[in-house]
Amino acid sequence: MAEKETMVSITPTQLQDILTAALKAANQPNALEAKHIAEEAERERRQQALAVELARVEEEARWRKQNSCSHSVNEKTGEPVAKGTGKWVTGGQMHGDDSCTLICQRCAQVFRFMPTREEREYIVNGQGLLGFAPPPLERLINREDFMQRPPASLAAKQSKTELTYDQLQARMAGARQ
Ligand SMILES: [Zn+2]
Repeated sequence: MAEKETMVSITPTQLQDILTAALKAANQPNALEAKHIAEEAERERRQQALAVELARVEEEARWRKQNSCSHSVNEKTGEPVAKGTGKWVTGGQMHGDDSCTLICQRCAQVFRFMPTREEREYIVNGQGLLGFAPPPLERLINREDFMQRPPASLAAKQSKTELTYDQLQARMAGARQ
């Protein structure tokens, strides 16, 4: 058999071309593989989009939960009222290091803070932390538990919907000047 084979001579450049073409063909995914790769990429893209969407929904839910409760009730009826009106529906305790844990008895939001000297006096000599006003966010030891501002998605929605007709008119007038 071998003696019947024809010898061909090729140049180094031709050999290189042949090898390059062969390697390229070997590395190219076939149609089925290409389909799998495309499907995998699409699956990953969808998963990422879903993760982003989930994070957005969770942030919005967290913001709503944080702001849905006024921690305040009507003194007589016990019905929820606007924040800071009626009485605070809070309770808690002072710890050995004087730090205080205040909790809303309705939504279970926890506020941890160091009382001022006056507050300490009041807490120790008064009725403790029953009905105590939650201190502002910047005074809280656990302020990291709170969202400082609404999520961007919600803020965008709010600024769109909360603009009144008068505000819109004012803005348009301002833009024209
Ligand atoms: Zn509450």
